[in-house]
Amino acid sequence: MKIHEYQAREILQDFDVPIPAGKVAETPSQAREVAEQLGGTVWAVKAQVHAGGRGKGGGVKLARNLEQVEELAKTMIGMRLVTKQTGSDGALVSKVLIQQGVNIVSEYYVGFLIDRANQSPVLLASSEGGMEIEKVAADFPEKIVKEYIDSSVGLTKEQAKDVVVKLNMDEKVREKAEKVLLGLWKAFKEKDCSLLEINPLIVTKEGEVFPLDAKMTFDDNALYRHPELEVLIDPSQEDETELKAHEAGLPYIQLDGNIACLVNGAGLAMATMDTIKLFGGEPANFLDIGGGASVEKVTAAFEIMLSKPEVKVILVNIFGGIMKCDTIAEGIVEACKVVSLTVPLVVRMKGTHEDLGKQILKESGLPIITAETLGEAALKAVSLAKEQ
Ligand code: ADP
Ligand code: MG
Repeated sequence: MKIHEYQAREILQDFDVPIPAGKVAETPSQAREVAEQLGGTVWAVKAQVHAGGRGKGGGVKLARNLEQVEELAKTMIGMRLVTKQTGSDGALVSKVLIQQGVNIVSEYYVGFLIDRANQSPVLLASSEGGMEIEKVAADFPEKIVKEYIDSSVGLTKEQAKDVVVKLNMDEKVREKAEKVLLGLWKAFKEKDCSLLEINPLIVTKEGEVFPLDAKMTFDDNALYRHPELEVLIDPSQEDETELKAHEAGLPYIQLDGNIACLVNGAGLAMATMDTIKLFGGEPANFLDIGGGASVEKVTAAFEIMLSKPEVKVILVNIFGGIMKCDTIAEGIVEACKVVSLTVPLVVRMKGTHEDLGKQILKESGLPIITAETLGEAALKAVSLAKEQ
């Protein structure tokens, strides 16, 4: 789950990480009021969307008087901001963060994330902040400092010190920077983040060390222990289909292909997607219907899959263990009564009550294409998708 910059700032404050003054606004006049309250002569007006690269897309601008603040807020609020990370549709801006203008001396990159290969959190840092870190990593890998963190110990003071030295930070701000790194780590760990990215972390003319931008993503699997985070979700920034699936309690991930998959078990779902790709097709989604799927859940799954115009075929792959094939078959038949099946449906089922399941499908009179093996099912789905 992702949150906005203004929300991440509030969390960081709870961990004693200093941030430049600022407040979120929902209307141009509110933006002006906020700027007036903040005082000063320069303000940054920043579009709040769940994507980076806002600066280059016109979503971060500096204002030098209150009228400008209001004007910029007026242009940004309600627009769909397109950045490198949003896709061509862009993301809706419904709020702007008005931030005090700061005198930047240097910009650094700091990111905490999980290194899957090393199975541990890692702190990435670079003196080349402000720009696209992916580019720095590709062109100047030696400019990225990588510090693995033992999660049972946490980021140590020594490690923080070492990173700050490697970044070549001015001696006068090193202690402050170390504190910021330790605070960021604490927030990353305690909030179960999968990513906490500060780009840029800045040193100001006045000798302050501030995260100027903050991107925070939480591990969805840990959300159950963070009711305070769940309320931060902004549905306008989420994929509509994924939201619907979430509400129906279905683990669902939207993909770019045209073969929708309904499978029980995450591992089998992955294998099904792999097999589709092996035969030259593209899965439209990942969907794990789970072990105890009810007719309602199967119906919801069909509704979700059929709501995507890109979908040309549905492939159902069920291994009947705890989940019985006849239950799924009944679910499919019921679902097809509720939602009209507009694309070919390929079904492969094996295991408990397989024969009963197949009989239910056959007697339903629905134009279902059956398959005995996963390979056969995938092959049929791929060739049908190509025909459509
Ligand atoms: P994004 O990464 O989405 O483009 P940032 O918040 O990192 O957005 O802003 C982009 C750039 O704009 C920063 O690298 C910084 O140079 C400048 N900037 C952002 N906020 C301020 C501010 N409050 N004062 C001065 N410059 C700012
Ligand atoms: Mg940034």
